[in-house]
Amino acid sequence: MNGRLVAALESGGTKMVAALSRGPDGIVARERIPTTSPQETVRALVEFFEREQAAHGRAEALSIGTFGPADLDVESETFGFITTTPKPGWSQTDLLGPLRDVVGEVPVVFETDVNAALFGEATWGAATGLKNAAYFTVGTGIGGGLMIDGGLVHGSGHPEMGHMRVKRHPDDPFEGVCSFHGDCLEGLACGPAIEKRWGMKAEDLPKDHPAWEMEAYYLAQACVNVLTIAPVQRIILGGGVMHQEQLLPMVRKQVTYLINGYLDLPEELIVSPELGDHAGLLGGVALGHRRLADLDEQN
Ligand code: ADP
Ligand code: ZN
Repeated sequence: MNGRLVAALESGGTKMVAALSRGPDGIVARERIPTTSPQETVRALVEFFEREQAAHGRAEALSIGTFGPADLDVESETFGFITTTPKPGWSQTDLLGPLRDVVGEVPVVFETDVNAALFGEATWGAATGLKNAAYFTVGTGIGGGLMIDGGLVHGSGHPEMGHMRVKRHPDDPFEGVCSFHGDCLEGLACGPAIEKRWGMKAEDLPKDHPAWEMEAYYLAQACVNVLTIAPVQRIILGGGVMHQEQLLPMVRKQVTYLINGYLDLPEELIVSPELGDHAGLLGGVALGHRRLADLDEQN
């Protein structure tokens, strides 16, 4: 289960979780740092890695899964930057650079937070051993990650599946909350969309409220859209909104209805994450291990 020591970071819009870790049973040091200004946050991260490496030894890889949009293109001058985020102060922030300076000249992985979480689940969690899987996190926003043939998918940027278009529910006049598109998937189905549509926090809505049928209707479309583009064996649905346990079976049922017999759906197609809050961080560790193994193979 455990391997070489990795400096891993799960970089979120509200908090950072940094660790020195060898795997799920080998977290040597870990710290939660609130995401405030870039200067303050990055300084705290640098201090953490400096201190913990002095205590526990040097990491062999540095691996980051971050909120975005972020520049993941290793050829780019701004590789490792947070790019156009609406998050105040963070636009065009070099996240990787200062951490690389403190961790040292080691192999680096810079990924999206959802792709990292997906890779964690594919290594130690709900998609262990599978080569084709997708992950959606349904929380303050909606993020999506995709793995095909064992590799995380990127293109000219990274997948932005949270902003896919969906067909409106016939009983839904709500305009949506996405500041770019209004009624994209995120605009209609993230936590704040539920709250604004129904005038109540998502976690306070009764389990039998029509909100959940509508939510399932949108999330099922997201699953079906993924399935028709990339035939994955598993779709993991996580994030705060998915804490509603009645929701997962409702999504499964809608997916079956929408596919309408056209595809043979794998058993256990749509599942909950297994690594919980640790998925992103462990995904970072797993990605670090994978990078080191790939480099070993090349040499
Ligand atoms: P973030 O996306 O900021 O990382 P979360 O995944 O916890 O954090 O998502 C927060 C959103 O999830 C909020 O909109 C909140 O209302 C919603 N949420 C949190 N817990 C629940 C719950 N038990 N049931 C439904 N919605 C929830
Ligand atoms: Zn959008």
